[in-house]
Amino acid sequence: MARTAYYWDPLNLEHDTGPHVECIARAERLAPGEMLSLVPRLDARPVLEHDAVHWITQVHSPHYHEFVKSACEGGRRLLDEGDTVVCRRSYDVALAAVNAALTAADAVMQGHTDNAFCAMRPPGHHALPTRAMGFCLFANVAILARYLQRQCKLGRIAVVDWDVHHGNGTQDIFYNDPSVMFISLHQFPLWPGSGSAEEIGEGAGKHTTLNIPMAPGTPEAEYLSRFDAEVIPCLEKYKPDALLISAGFDAHRDDPLGGLMLTESGYARMTQRLRDVANRHCSGRLISCLEGGYNLPALQCSVAAHMNALID
Ligand SMILES: [Zn+2]
Repeated sequence: MARTAYYWDPLNLEHDTGPHVECIARAERLAPGEMLSLVPRLDARPVLEHDAVHWITQVHSPHYHEFVKSACEGGRRLLDEGDTVVCRRSYDVALAAVNAALTAADAVMQGHTDNAFCAMRPPGHHALPTRAMGFCLFANVAILARYLQRQCKLGRIAVVDWDVHHGNGTQDIFYNDPSVMFISLHQFPLWPGSGSAEEIGEGAGKHTTLNIPMAPGTPEAEYLSRFDAEVIPCLEKYKPDALLISAGFDAHRDDPLGGLMLTESGYARMTQRLRDVANRHCSGRLISCLEGGYNLPALQCSVAAHMNALID
């Protein structure tokens, strides 16, 4: 049994995107009171204040951070030309999502928990250093990786991104950086269009990016066997000091945006495999952050399966 902390903040309910798939109802489904019947050992903990702006600007330009703050607070409705909808409260909610990740990092590093899941929104893995993209404001997982390196003095960090969409923002941030191994499994082709197997990193970061594109309709068994055959050996070779998961649940077979075929038990199995890697190489240090997942019942059941596998 592991101790698994669950971070969910009521601010989650204030990022009002209106009639959008990345909606408040997602956070309502993941509120601790809603999850308790599915995760009997749920250990919900408060999100604590950190110097989030300092850590955001380790990854994003100060100019971009100011743009997000002033655009949200000034009442702008779209942060990009596409689909990144915000409201006046969205900046504060995005800070809370970063604070949740940093709170989880402290709890894991100080031994107050073994691992953690941050059930926060907005998601982060499409956010670029100077641009919002794909419902994402700040790159929560990338910021967490930098915090673990610069505040907690860890060396190598591995990020496994199983969201159905390619984690182009995280990839971009660490493309030349061998101290972060980025592994993305995603449907291909699919928006945002990047993530071919030929994208392997550049310069010193060559071979510390691994993209595993999956054709639409790939059966779950095939997906999971590629996970075992490609993701796990890569992590075993890299030997990270901490393992992060960009946990989108839109590769679920019922998701409206993706065309992959995962089920709750597939998420549980991948979680168990990653827990084993974390136990072998990272003293169990594993932090998972919510990304996508837009079928509400599938999202809730998948998060529950993920949590139960982190705990067991
Ligand atoms: Zn996604």
